[in-house]
Amino acid sequence: MSDFDNDSVATIEITLNHVDRALERLRVGTYRTCQVCGSPLELADLVAMPLSANCSSHPELA
Ligand SMILES: [Zn+2]
Repeated sequence: MSDFDNDSVATIEITLNHVDRALERLRVGTYRTCQVCGSPLELADLVAMPLSANCSSHPELA
């Protein structure tokens, strides 16, 4: 795996952290809820961006 540079590894780790948080939200039942305002997320948005935690009014900040 010599072509694994540090930037790539960092990007992978961030993505995996988002997956972890999405799975946790699924477990506790807040997966379809905006983390900022609590309004329900559109299913179509989640299909397009399964790791999204916020509604369209509150764009995700990593
Ligand atoms: Zn929101």
